[in-house]
Amino acid sequence: MAKVESFSLNHDLVKAPYVRLAGSETQQDVTIEKYDLRFLQPNADALPTAALHTLEHLLATQMRDELTGIIDISPMGCRTGFYMIVWGQHDIKEIRDALYNTLVFITKTDFVPAVAREACGNYRDHSLFSAKEYAQQVLDQGISLDPFQRIL
Ligand code: ZN
Repeated sequence: MAKVESFSLNHDLVKAPYVRLAGSETQQDVTIEKYDLRFLQPNADALPTAALHTLEHLLATQMRDELTGIIDISPMGCRTGFYMIVWGQHDIKEIRDALYNTLVFITKTDFVPAVAREACGNYRDHSLFSAKEYAQQVLDQGISLDPFQRIL
């Protein structure tokens, strides 16, 4: 069975919210990094799907305005956060600051991109209200630079 880095993370020991480098690969001198953007405490809380979905749409556009080289940002199946894959090597503070600025933006926006039926796979399942509530909760708790100890 293939080894998956995040499967060996002890989810009982982490202290969300945080950002964490979950892996990197270099091939032909090109490095790609994967980040764990954890919003909620694993096995204690989970984002409702409408909030997760709206956050996904808003992260897709706004994080790309904050950070160049983003390949993908996708929700975790456990609904406690997102994975982000990005070209190049980054300082963890750069990732945290981009997420912080994006969440501040989300708390203020009245617009969700790509919510028309033809642009989305489940256009009925969005909640900007809920997305804002969870974005504010993460901001209130602070985004740690380390998954196991609160470094704000
Ligand atoms: Zn969608």
